[in-house]
Amino acid sequence: MARINFLFILLSTTNILYVFSQFTNPSSYSLSPDASCGNKNGTEHNFYCPNYDCCSTNGYCGGSTAHCGVGCQTGYGNCGIPNDGLKSIETCKKNKTLAFSFDDEILQQIYNDGHLIGAHTWSHVHLGRASPEEIDFQLDTLDLAIKRILGVKLLYFRPPFGESVMNPYLRKALIRRGYKTIALWDVDTRDWATDSATAMAGFPGLISDLKPHISLMHDRINTTVDSLLPYAIETAKKLGYKFDTIPGCNGQHNKHDWYRVIGKPEKRDYKTWHCNPNDMDSGIL
Ligand SMILES: [Zn+2]
Repeated sequence: MARINFLFILLSTTNILYVFSQFTNPSSYSLSPDASCGNKNGTEHNFYCPNYDCCSTNGYCGGSTAHCGVGCQTGYGNCGIPNDGLKSIETCKKNKTLAFSFDDEILQQIYNDGHLIGAHTWSHVHLGRASPEEIDFQLDTLDLAIKRILGVKLLYFRPPFGESVMNPYLRKALIRRGYKTIALWDVDTRDWATDSATAMAGFPGLISDLKPHISLMHDRINTTVDSLLPYAIETAKKLGYKFDTIPGCNGQHNKHDWYRVIGKPEKRDYKTWHCNPNDMDSGIL
């Protein structure tokens, strides 16, 4: 698969303080198995979100402004953002800048090319259903791998599915490990849900307001790499957008805010240093 820029994009949301309120799950509903929830395309799913996630207008659990703002389907989950210093970024600040947010794995080249690499857990689990031990495992296993491959500690984190960003245990676990920023997105190409023709057809409308954006895509989807991304870049250029990384488009140009250097890249030892694709949890958001 071709590689693309892991343009992380983040942004910076102003500190919005949501008030936590008690959420009681209706007994006829069950916990979402796959991040779908509430009413989705007019169909009642009877699924509620894990603690600290809201159910968006489109019927997905998560903790971004899109999930927790006016689109929140109350009754299926509640959001709240603790004022603990860990900030979330969902879009760019600079006018007409666009950043793409990917999952990716060709790390050294991406790192050397100046893109932002952020953590995305070890095996792409649903953090809303993970125990504290599982959350620790997901963060520590990835941190060790990145230390070996790049010699750095990552400071940006993007939760799979955008889930659980307000989960107090997860936030404490991130802060304890030195993470500074949670990277989310404000524009979703839905490449994970539709075919590439549909995603391409929808893309211009996502950025035609010419506002700064962080756009979600997935490099594990071949058609995203081969078709959607080139089309998105051309489309954005024609509209006058410039591209930047997530920190860059939020004015954070100092690499010390992106990574902490804690060693040197190590030589790969094939006995203890490997990934098992079967580790991967289902889902690619
Ligand atoms: Zn993902």
